[in-house]
Amino acid sequence: MPPLPPLPPSTPVTSQPVPAPASATPACERCLELAADPRRREPPACLALRNTAPLVSQSAAGVPFSMLTFACRDCGTVWRLYDRANELFVSWVPERPLVR
Ligand SMILES: [Zn+2]
Repeated sequence: MPPLPPLPPSTPVTSQPVPAPASATPACERCLELAADPRRREPPACLALRNTAPLVSQSAAGVPFSMLTFACRDCGTVWRLYDRANELFVSWVPERPLVR
């Protein structure tokens, strides 16, 4: 009977969840205001456009829309601006729930 192979060396766990610092940053006042009024077209001054080319796609109902990504310079919140065809209002959706 051959000897048992040696146990593999214990490897350090590398897949531990690292808390993202951005998620702990409280949203700034302007982002909270935007969350309260997500249908306005004008981005607050603290938002910087991330991708200059809008992503154009279609909703499940077949309605075309475009999406722009913004990031807040103050609190780092990432916003997506959805602009649907034939709709008067846009909608701002934060990438993750805002932290107060
Ligand atoms: Zn902000």
